[in-house]
Amino acid sequence: MKIALGLGCDRGTPLATLERAVAQALDSLGLAWADVVAVASIDLKADETGLLALAAQQGWQIRFYSAAELAAVPVPNPSETVRKYTGSPSVSEAAALLAAGVDMSQLLLEKHKLRGPEDGRNATVSIARMKEMTEQQDSTAPQAGKIMLVGIGPGSVDHMTLRARQAIAEADVVIGYVTYIKLVADLLEGKEIIRKSMTEELDRAVSALEAAEAGKKVALISSGDAGVYGMAGPTYEVLFQAGWTPEHPVQLEIIPGASAINSCAARVGAPLTHDFCSISLSDLLTPWPVIARRLDAAAYADFVVALYNPKSGRRTRQIVEAQRLFLRHRRPDTPVAIVKSAYRRRERIEFTTLDRMSEADIGMLSTVLIGNSNTVVQHGLMVTPRGYANKYHLDEGGATRSGEKPGRSLSTGLLGWLETLQAAHAEGASYEDLAAEYRLPLDYIRATLSEPLEAAAPDSSEEEMATE
Ligand code: SAH
Repeated sequence: MKIALGLGCDRGTPLATLERAVAQALDSLGLAWADVVAVASIDLKADETGLLALAAQQGWQIRFYSAAELAAVPVPNPSETVRKYTGSPSVSEAAALLAAGVDMSQLLLEKHKLRGPEDGRNATVSIARMKEMTEQQDSTAPQAGKIMLVGIGPGSVDHMTLRARQAIAEADVVIGYVTYIKLVADLLEGKEIIRKSMTEELDRAVSALEAAEAGKKVALISSGDAGVYGMAGPTYEVLFQAGWTPEHPVQLEIIPGASAINSCAARVGAPLTHDFCSISLSDLLTPWPVIARRLDAAAYADFVVALYNPKSGRRTRQIVEAQRLFLRHRRPDTPVAIVKSAYRRRERIEFTTLDRMSEADIGMLSTVLIGNSNTVVQHGLMVTPRGYANKYHLDEGGATRSGEKPGRSLSTGLLGWLETLQAAHAEGASYEDLAAEYRLPLDYIRATLSEPLEAAAPDSSEEEMATE
């Protein structure tokens, strides 16, 4: 017989206690360990070491469900206490039923509870009979696998998402750069691990596709976010090349993670509170003129900028050129923060200014954050104002500045500005004058002035809410 186990336990329940609880549960029905196909629990337990070790040791599939999914399953023994702690009135019974794909009639064992005699931790086991396989599922054709592109954040376990850990726990094969594989070492028991170097991106994507086509679940690990200068793009490229479409049985899931820009910003203050962009200084795959044009445009447009891949042993001049381009548009004392290995053991943060930026200690593991013309460093924190000072008197109890209205665009917002523009033009300012004053293209000034002003929209507080 094929069965699924539902398992609930206290945080930190040792493997031995879980084994004992499962052994008792199986014995009570005369079932064997080999009958177990899958074990399931609530997603809060996705990082429960004993549970992960048990599944890995036995070679069981492991499934985690959200409180909402579990709460929707009718069970014989719902509990208010369990609901209070987990958000679902049942964990083990509901998880067993979900994993087995059956209803209450197929629950073979209602929740069986054991308190570990040495550790005092509680474990609860329920057993459900797996749904009979249909002919199609039972055929010998391998089931299609899945590729999960997992962004694990900056590089500390605490800053990895729950879904990222679940995805790695679910995977049969884990592919990634050695440093990142080490970070999730506790989740890897019993899995096939493929360690690849930085430069083998396409290779990694090909290995992932091959494993998924053979029916495996593959987790491809990237630092930060898998889509930011990471594996997501190359993976799609390889898949498209192989004729893959979203209808293909091999599924793809991208699991977002905090990118270096987010992590580094959080370490230095609040530099990204206004418009920002990221530019990679790596010219391994991008021509320098493309990078230089983007640096120039971002500097000109006053974006806060995060420079990824700023410098390596071999690429040392790129950061100097970036500085040269920025100094054409920004003050020499513009704040710059250099964050190395954010949230990792060798983290190092250095504040400097644009004119001294290239002298700083910058390497492969650094991200360089360059402030905009309003960014300040105060008390060792880099902060870019949101713009409240344009509308409110911050020092006078938040009174609104004259001519401004809470919840409405600034008087220098689009409509207010167009009125000013029209008035100036009517008084004799030429298109060229206005283009120079506002540093905007002449044809844009001409085109927008040729359109009639629209009536202002009715009062509404929607906008303010939409921007937090
Ligand atoms: N996918 C990653 C970026 C890969 S490119 C992400 O989303 O973060 C590699 C660059 O990312 C490095 O050269 C560095 O600029 C930046 N980076 C990655 N992790 C970092 C960390 N922990 N601290 C500082 N910079 C980091």
